[in-house]
Amino acid sequence: MNPDWKSAEAETVTRLREIIQFDTTNPPGNELPLARYLESALTAEGIETTLLEPTKNRAQLIARISGSGAKRPVILLAHMDVVGVERQRWTHDPFGGEIADGYLYGRGAIDDKGMLAANLMTMLLVKRMLTATGETLSRDIVFVATSDEEAGGEWGMGWLVANHPRLLDAEFALNEGGRTRIIEGGHTYLAVQSAEKISHVVTVTARGSAGHAAIPLPDNAIFRLGRALEQLSRHVEPVTLTDTTRLFFSRLLGIWPNPQQKKAMHDLVLGNRAASEHGAALLSETPVFNAVLRNGISPAMLRAGKQFNVIPDSAVADFNVRTLPGQSIDEVVERMRAAVREPHVTLELTHRGEEAPASDPESPMFHAIASAARELNPAIAAVPYLSTGVTDSARLRRLDVKAYGILPFPMAQEDEERMHGNDERVPIASLHFGTRLIFRSIELIAR
Ligand SMILES: [Zn+2]
Repeated sequence: MNPDWKSAEAETVTRLREIIQFDTTNPPGNELPLARYLESALTAEGIETTLLEPTKNRAQLIARISGSGAKRPVILLAHMDVVGVERQRWTHDPFGGEIADGYLYGRGAIDDKGMLAANLMTMLLVKRMLTATGETLSRDIVFVATSDEEAGGEWGMGWLVANHPRLLDAEFALNEGGRTRIIEGGHTYLAVQSAEKISHVVTVTARGSAGHAAIPLPDNAIFRLGRALEQLSRHVEPVTLTDTTRLFFSRLLGIWPNPQQKKAMHDLVLGNRAASEHGAALLSETPVFNAVLRNGISPAMLRAGKQFNVIPDSAVADFNVRTLPGQSIDEVVERMRAAVREPHVTLELTHRGEEAPASDPESPMFHAIASAARELNPAIAAVPYLSTGVTDSARLRRLDVKAYGILPFPMAQEDEERMHGNDERVPIASLHFGTRLIFRSIELIAR
């Protein structure tokens, strides 16, 4: 039975506008009123909910449509909080949910209230369908709306995993973290995030003699750190293809418009060793491709000195190092140490990221998402994707939930880049595409 999409679309727009009108800027978040709104929308249609309050004015809302239990549940996850706004740089009220030129504007329209609205609509539409037909699904559908994602998730998914892991018992989850990207010539690819890089901090410390700046010293710690950084800037990690990146490039090349890059993708995954290296070198010129082909090393913070006339005895740089799944951070640190030839410089791993397994890029959930996308647009290419950013999906993957990240709204890069920026907006046609994509994926996996 198909939903009445015309009225469902009007309802989706209304719901998203209302959701945006809750100011959940984090900090402080204040997600509780939005959680109550979601709770009343769900309970009004007979869906059971659990509202949890980890601390004052923060909340997680869980809702469940119970299936027969023949299969393990599937989770629909979205976060309720949003990042802050620079109001004077917006042409629309960031908390107004205004509509103009075919777009719905507002903070969170893309990240992540659009998906929150699409998940809510999926729950409501599934429940209405089941009530009308008397059917039962093969597995529970679990709606999860969390707080605090944008500030690390301590009061959100982190809290939920620590305090109520049984509520998260599921075989699969759908979360943010992917892309539905419209590229040159109108081609579209759906990048389904099935793995992510792991974020670590490596601290580089140079030591030298302290003293009065009036007497220059040859072992000045700041010069020493500068030379060490210059040596590290020339260190490049080797190319490593994972199962996810191999599938990513082999499927992406089918629709890729740029002939040179298309050939490079082909050579990378299918060519002999020399061709593969040549392909990798060409693709590495694009920063996002470079970032999925190897461990990433970015200096991010510098600390040295307190006063202009005092030579400090140390100078410190913090590096954010992001490893591919399965790569050893200890070995990366060893290679970084070997790259530094400057004396009296040490490198230490000061924050070790937690490993998370990759979700199977060939699972029934991945195929459900890909089929649902093809029903909506036969030319779309669904590719598994390794994200360089960190999402709550890693926490779920550590609980043995196969989580997949999507951004179900087809967008050109220009619109996508408004995420966390000014005049964030979702094309209304894309909002409808995304709602149908989630509804149909869930219908296929829960039948
Ligand atoms: Zn987000």
